[in-house]
Amino acid sequence: MARVLFINAGSEGHINPTIGVVQELISRGEEVVYFTIEAFRERLEKTGATVRTLDGQKFIKAFISGGRNYLVERINGLLLTADIVIPSVLEQIEGEKFDYIIHDSMFGCGHLLAQILKLPAINSCTSFAQTQESFDNMLEQLSKNIPPEVAKQINDEYQRLTTIVKEKYNIEIHSPYEVFCNPAPLTIVYTTREFQPTGEAFDQTFKFIGPSIASRGIQENFDLTPIKRKSVIYISLGTVFNQAIDFYKLCFEAFGNCDHTVVMSIGNQSSLNELGEIPLNFIVKNYVPQTEVLKYAKLFITHGGMNSTNEGLYYGVPLIVLPQSADQPIIAGQVANIGAGIKLNMQGLTANQLREAADYVLNVPSFHKAVSNIKESMQKAGGYHRAVDEIFEFKRQFDI
Ligand code: UDP
Repeated sequence: MARVLFINAGSEGHINPTIGVVQELISRGEEVVYFTIEAFRERLEKTGATVRTLDGQKFIKAFISGGRNYLVERINGLLLTADIVIPSVLEQIEGEKFDYIIHDSMFGCGHLLAQILKLPAINSCTSFAQTQESFDNMLEQLSKNIPPEVAKQINDEYQRLTTIVKEKYNIEIHSPYEVFCNPAPLTIVYTTREFQPTGEAFDQTFKFIGPSIASRGIQENFDLTPIKRKSVIYISLGTVFNQAIDFYKLCFEAFGNCDHTVVMSIGNQSSLNELGEIPLNFIVKNYVPQTEVLKYAKLFITHGGMNSTNEGLYYGVPLIVLPQSADQPIIAGQVANIGAGIKLNMQGLTANQLREAADYVLNVPSFHKAVSNIKESMQKAGGYHRAVDEIFEFKRQFDI
C-alpha cells in the first residue's frame, strides 16, 4: 500500500474524472489524501479518500486577479495561487510521508508541489493534452493580439512572480508551460488518442485512458422514468460559463411543445424563476445527473466542456456545440472534425437556426456513424481501471 497525495483545486470538470480513479486506487489498497475545495468534500469522501481543503474563495480571487483577457494573464493568475495552495498544503501535511503525488493539469500548483516535496508525480489532465511545442506555438499566436505595452506589463509580472516562487520555495520555473500544463513523468488524459488533436505527437508518458465515468455518489433529486423510451434532447452549458437566461428561453422557443422531451440543466448561478413559463415537454433543473441522462439522449446541445463532450461521445450521442470560453472552441472544432456533430455560434443564434441545426444533426446518418465509431473507441479505452493500471506501472518504474 502506498500513500498518495492528490492535489486538485479545480472546478467540477477537473474533479469528476478523478472520482473513479480515486475509488479504484483505494480498492487496490492505496491510501489517498485528497486536497480540494470544500464544495467537493462530500463526493470525494464517498470515494474513501481523506479529504482536506483549500480556501476556494481565496484561490479563485488570486487566480482571477492575474487578469482574464489573455492566456498569459491566466498563467500569472495560476502563479498567484501558489501562496494560497502551497503554504496550506505544507502545513496540513506536516510530518506526514507520501509515496507519490497526483495533481490536476491546471489548478493547484501540482508541478511546484511535486518538486518541493520531491515526489514522483502524475498529471491528471482533464482537457486536451499539450506538448511543450504545441503550447508554446499557441501562446505565441495568442500573444500577437496583445498590445505591446500590455504584453510588457504582463511579462514583467510573470518575471516578478517566478522570482518570488524561486525565493520562497527555491524552485526554478523554466517556462509558462510548466505553470499552465503542470507536466509530469506520467500524464493521464481522460480522452482517447483518436479524439486528441495531433494525438500521434504525444510520447508514451501520455496515457489516453478515455472518459473516466464512475458513480459520483451524490444524492440527485431526478426521476429518470419520464425520459425512458422518449426521444430526448439534453441541453447544458456546464457548471462554469452557464449564466445564459436568454439562451435557455431561446431553447423554449426552438423546442417548446415539439415531439422531443427536452432535459435542460441551467446551472446553479441562475434560478428557475427567471425563466418564465416552462413548456410542458421540458424538464428544467439547476443540475441533473448528466451521465445518467445521456444514456437516454438522442442529441446533446453542449458548451463543449471537455467532460461533457467526452461523456456525450462515450454514450454515443451526437453533439451541437456552442462554445463559451476556455478550451471549448478547440473542442468544438474537434467534434466537427471527426463528424460527431456541429459547432454553432451562440452570438446571434436564433430559435429557428437552433431547431434546424437539431433536425439536421438528428436526421443526417453520417453523424450517427461517426459517433458510433468514436463511442466504441471511447468505451474500449479503459477509463479509470486503465488509469490505475498505468499508475501501478508507474509505481513499478519508480520502485514505489
Ligand atoms: N454536470 C452534471 N450535471 C449538470 C451539469 C454538469 O453532472 O447538470 C457535470 C458533467 O457531467 C461534467 C461536468 O459537470 O462531468 C462539467 O464539466 P465540463 O468539463 O463539461 O464543463 P465545465 O463545467 O468545466 O465548463
